[in-house]
Amino acid sequence: MKITVIGGGTAGFYSALISAFLGNKVTLIEKEDKLGGVCVNYGCIPSKAMYHLLHSITVLQSYRKIVNTSLEELQQFAKEASNKVSKGMEYTLEDNGVEIIHAKGSYRSGKILANNESINTDKVIIATGTSSNKPTPGYEDLPFLTSDFNSAIVIGATFGGIELAWLLKSMKKEVTVVEKMDKILPSPDIDDEIRNAVYNYLRRLGIKLVLSAQAQKIEKDKVVLVNGETLKADIVFSAFGRYPAIEGFEELPHSKGLIVNEYLETPISNIFGAGDIIGTHTATEAVYGGTIASLNAFGLRKRFNTQAMPYVIYTKPEIAYAGRIEGNCVKTNVASLSRGAADKEFEGFLKLCEKDGYLVGAQAFMEDAEDVIANISVLIRLKVKLDDILDIVYPHPSYLESILEAVRSLSLKRKT
Ligand SMILES: Cc1cc2nc3c(=O)[nH]c(=O)nc-3n(C[C@H](O)[C@H](O)[C@H](O)COP(=O)(O)OP(=O)(O)OC[C@H]3O[C@@H](n4cnc5c(N)ncnc54)[C@H](O)[C@@H]3O)c2cc1C
Repeated sequence: MKITVIGGGTAGFYSALISAFLGNKVTLIEKEDKLGGVCVNYGCIPSKAMYHLLHSITVLQSYRKIVNTSLEELQQFAKEASNKVSKGMEYTLEDNGVEIIHAKGSYRSGKILANNESINTDKVIIATGTSSNKPTPGYEDLPFLTSDFNSAIVIGATFGGIELAWLLKSMKKEVTVVEKMDKILPSPDIDDEIRNAVYNYLRRLGIKLVLSAQAQKIEKDKVVLVNGETLKADIVFSAFGRYPAIEGFEELPHSKGLIVNEYLETPISNIFGAGDIIGTHTATEAVYGGTIASLNAFGLRKRFNTQAMPYVIYTKPEIAYAGRIEGNCVKTNVASLSRGAADKEFEGFLKLCEKDGYLVGAQAFMEDAEDVIANISVLIRLKVKLDDILDIVYPHPSYLESILEAVRSLSLKRKT
């Protein structure tokens, strides 16, 4: 079968690769010179390259070992990591026989076009991600700024805003976060207990959090709030303003992004969607979406299961969550873990919830929250019974033991 994938970001890469593994003849259309999209070129990879060094420096600081870095050095690591991953994607696709065409894809009058040439194909997976209309630089521009700064305003206390604020503070910048809602991480998915712990922690780090503050005018070095107050800094970052890249695909049914069903099919037969273009927001979901779309394009019938997706905000400690906070919940404090003592890490906790003998959700603000929540997401998605989790063995001393500590209390609570 001939499969055409439009967009060479995370979702497009996995769509093309899995389709090739399945023995299809695959063409990938990418409008830019480099593969990788937002995640590889501007988002996840460069930001985590900078995060890794800053995280390591912060760890050393708790042992009074002082190591310094600079924006320039961080930018260099970020770009190196991006280039390596982008090139790796290109080689992997080529090794698996995927034809890569650098052109702008579109859908016009029932035809798939690469630039203006019609492409003959059996199935199509659209993975064009997002575009940006930010009034000032965003988090994704940090690796490419040409001059350093001492103070920054971040507009938006969303996931990206909080992650960026932590990163900038670790670079020893003066940081102010402006949020129009009356709380940080305003998503209803975030539990108040975690939100408050993160709020207090960020304040302790010296990050200024200005809440219930609607920005009326955003300029490169100042923000005028609706109440008339003006906030000034060397640079203003906009942690908002990405929207699904629907341009060229307007003839397909869409609202905010492409409309797809639980099998990631659009209402037009043989056309599928995956990644940010269907309204998900993370590369985590784009990897999974690309996989599911390619299996379904091949003719299988696999649901895109949104249950307990693991989400991570890379601060130190990390913030992570999966599923819903409801039913019976318990907390394990990092201070009670032997690994925490060994690592001089005492901040934060895991909150874990069960309903009817199954885990339903968890939120963590702790060292290694990423791994802890990833494990819990697996337990929820695979519907492992609470009592069966007691048979799981995690290494000691590890932060993963927080899961077993919480499960033991939840299980005992049900029995008493
Ligand atoms: C600063 C930042 C940090 C982030 N960190 C994380 C993180 O740590 N973890 C995480 O899970 N997520 C993170 N994200 C989110 C993540 O980057 C996105 O969810 C992910 O990139 C979505 O992948 P995608 O393939 O759907 O879209 P994209 O990455 O946007 O890729 C779409 C691709 O399609 C191409 N394209 C668009 N239109 C056309 C067209 N008409 N024809 C041909 N090609 C086209 C684009 O050039 C691009 O290459 C971060 C985002 C940002 C901005």
